[in-house]
Amino acid sequence: MTTTQKVAVVTGANRGLGFEASRQLAKKGYQVILTSRDEAKGKAAAQKLQAEGLNVIFHPLDVTNDESSQKLAEFIREQFGKLDVLVNNAAIYIDSQTGGNSVFDAKIDTLRQTMETNVYGVLRVTQALIGLMQKQNYGRIVNVSSGAAQLTDMGSGVPTYRISKTALNALTRILANELQGKNILVNSVCPGWVKTDMGGPNAPRTPEQGVDTIVWLATLPDGGATGGFFRDRQPIDW
Ligand code: NAP
Repeated sequence: MTTTQKVAVVTGANRGLGFEASRQLAKKGYQVILTSRDEAKGKAAAQKLQAEGLNVIFHPLDVTNDESSQKLAEFIREQFGKLDVLVNNAAIYIDSQTGGNSVFDAKIDTLRQTMETNVYGVLRVTQALIGLMQKQNYGRIVNVSSGAAQLTDMGSGVPTYRISKTALNALTRILANELQGKNILVNSVCPGWVKTDMGGPNAPRTPEQGVDTIVWLATLPDGGATGGFFRDRQPIDW
């Protein structure tokens, strides 16, 4: 079955920016598949948006798991026959919990774990779902990155997170290049510092402000930007 309604997947959507991006995309009329590695949390999040009258359904997805990614692809193929938007939002930020805020104390295992979610997870899910975009010559992929990844302004602290998001930006460029001319636009975004579990209570931005550029990139018109890095709807340096 193929639906005419646009279908969007958001990863790590049970809370924070992923949850808010799901809400805003559904408000724009998208059929949103809200995914979460935790079934109970994901279902509860989807129910909350359904109670707001939004077209949101839940499907499990652990981005570190091949089988989970393949099952999501099968579900979308059967239910909708295509995919229009993928927001690669799920990420972990564990440097300070693992005692390695200095690069000299960073544990290789922390880097491995962080790369597994923040980079390999994005590659795995994108590989699983890309066929559902290619078959219709339409797709918008938004990789949620961070200013902490900017090489031109690289600081210290949270080293494994920084490395992972810089690698994610490289993946954005590679994907965009390989998809050139296919009407599948791939961009990285820095949401700014946002009040979520990850951003903490002192962050100046609300989740709604944080997802503005994510949603803008997810809904770019044909011929829109690809292979870019954006904050506040403006290109920023790598
Ligand atoms: P958050 O509140 O910590 O939420 C992270 C989400 O990712 C949670 O839903 C979490 O699920 C999910 N997740 C983690 N590992 C996963 C896995 N293996 N499979 C599926 N889901 C997984 O973070 P946030 O602030 O909303 O951040 C969203 C994105 O924005 C991230 O990419 C982050 O790096 C980026 N970002 C955030 C800020 C900020 O200030 N908040 C700034 C720059 C960039 P669980 O609930 O199961 O843990």
